[in-house]
Amino acid sequence: MCKDIREKFPLFGDMKQCEWVKKDDTYERCKIPIVSKNCPVTCHLCCEDVKGDFLVDEEMKQCKWARKNSTDQLCMKPDVWKNCPVTCHSCCEDARDTFSVDGEMKKCKWARQKNTKQRCAISNVSDNCPVTCNTCDERSLDIEKNTTSSLPLSSPSKSPSIVASSDTPIDTPSSTSSLYSSRETEVKAIQAKKVILTVSLGVLKDESIIFKPKLPKWKRDAIDNMNFGVLNKCIMYWRKWKYVPWSKYNDEVWYTLIDNNSDVLFKQFFNGYKTNGSKQILTAFVGGSDAIAMEYKDDSAIKDEVMLSLKSMFPDVNIPEPDEFKVTRWLDNENFKGSYTTPTSNMRTDSTTLGKSIGGKLYFAGEATTSDWYGTTSGAYLTGKQVANEVL
Ligand SMILES: Cc1cc2nc3c(=O)[nH]c(=O)nc-3n(C[C@H](O)[C@H](O)[C@H](O)COP(=O)(O)OP(=O)(O)OC[C@H]3O[C@@H](n4cnc5c(N)ncnc54)[C@H](O)[C@@H]3O)c2cc1C
Repeated sequence: MCKDIREKFPLFGDMKQCEWVKKDDTYERCKIPIVSKNCPVTCHLCCEDVKGDFLVDEEMKQCKWARKNSTDQLCMKPDVWKNCPVTCHSCCEDARDTFSVDGEMKKCKWARQKNTKQRCAISNVSDNCPVTCNTCDERSLDIEKNTTSSLPLSSPSKSPSIVASSDTPIDTPSSTSSLYSSRETEVKAIQAKKVILTVSLGVLKDESIIFKPKLPKWKRDAIDNMNFGVLNKCIMYWRKWKYVPWSKYNDEVWYTLIDNNSDVLFKQFFNGYKTNGSKQILTAFVGGSDAIAMEYKDDSAIKDEVMLSLKSMFPDVNIPEPDEFKVTRWLDNENFKGSYTTPTSNMRTDSTTLGKSIGGKLYFAGEATTSDWYGTTSGAYLTGKQVANEVL
C-alpha cells in the first residue's frame, strides 16, 4: 500500500521526515528521488482507487460500482470521490497547461519560479496548481463542503502549451503533423508533413510537452528508463587575480579537493586562465545529488559554499571574495530540466528506441538519441544531421 514512512531518512547530510516535506516547498522537495520514494502520500503520488469495500449511504460499495453506474453523479458523494480518486478524476494534480492570470496565459511553472506564496494567493493559480501551492488538503475540504455543487473534480481549464499533434492519428500515412506553441500568451499552429523534435531528455521526462495522440508506450518506456543527470557550475571572476592563491598554479587547469570526508558541495575547480585568453575566472563544478541540492540554495549561499571549498583547499591563505559570480541551475531551467544523459544499464537499446521516428511523421534527435555520443554536442550535431537526411 502507498504510505509515507514514519521514520526519519537521510537527506544531504541531515535527517528529515515527511512532515518537513509537507511544511514548505513541497513540490520542489518532492523532486528529490529519496523524498518522493519515502513520502509518496505527501508528494501526491498515491492516487489509487481502494481495492475493497467502503461505506456509501450505509451500504458497502466498491469503486467498480461507481464506474459501472452514473459515475459523475456518484462521484459527487464524498465517500466515493475520496475512495475512488482515479475513477472520479479527483487526484490532486497541477494543471499541465496554461490558464489565465490577469489576462495573461500562465503555467504552474510560472508560480513555482518565484514569489510562489504571492502567486498562489491568486485563486486561479491555487485552483490550477494545488500541488505547487500545497493546497491539496484544503481543496479536498472545499470539495467536501460543496459535494452537491458543480465544482470541477478534475484539473480545470486546459489549453495546449506545445503540442505535436495531427488531425488524424500520427501514424496514418496521409496525416500531417501540427505543432502548437503557446509559451505564455502566444498561440500559433504550424502545419508540417514531418516534425523533428530535439528537446532534451529532461524536457521529455518532465512531460511539459503534450503529444496528441499520446506517445506510444515503447517510446514512453525508453524515456522513463533513461537518466538525465545534473551538473552545475559557479563561475567566479576576480578583478585582482594576483591575490588569489591559485594564480601561482595557472598551468594546472583542474584542481580537486581530495578530502573525501569533507562535506563541502564543490570539489572540482577549473582554472581556464591559460586557455581562455587570461580571463580571471575560476569555475567550480558540482554534479549529481549535490548539484540538485545546490539548486535549492540562493546565489549568495552558493557563493559561501564555494568559498568554504576554496578555504579548505588553500587553508593558510586569505582568499578574497570574487568580484562577480554566476551560478547555473540546469534542473530548474524549463528549457533543459537537467544537464545531459548519463549511462544506464539498457542505454544502447533505449537511446536507439528514443531516436526512432513515430510513423515517419514525428522524428527525434539530440544527444540522448545516440549511445555512442550521448551527453555531448557531437551527439547533438551528428543525430541532428542524420535525422535531417532521413526527413529530406
Ligand atoms: C554544465 C555542462 C557542461 C557540458 N560540457 C560539455 C562538453 O564539455 N562537451 C560537450 O560536447 N558537451 C557538453 N555538455 C553537453 C551539451 O551541452 C549537450 O549534450 C548538448 O547541448 C545537447 O544538445 P541537444 O540539441 O541534444 O539538446 P539541447 O542543447 O538541450 O537543446 C534543446 C533545445 O530545445 C529547446 N526546448 C526545450 N523545450 C522546448 C519547448 N517546449 N519548445 C521549444 N523548444 C524547446 C531548448 O531551449 C533548447 O534550445 C555540457 C552540458 C552541461 C549542462
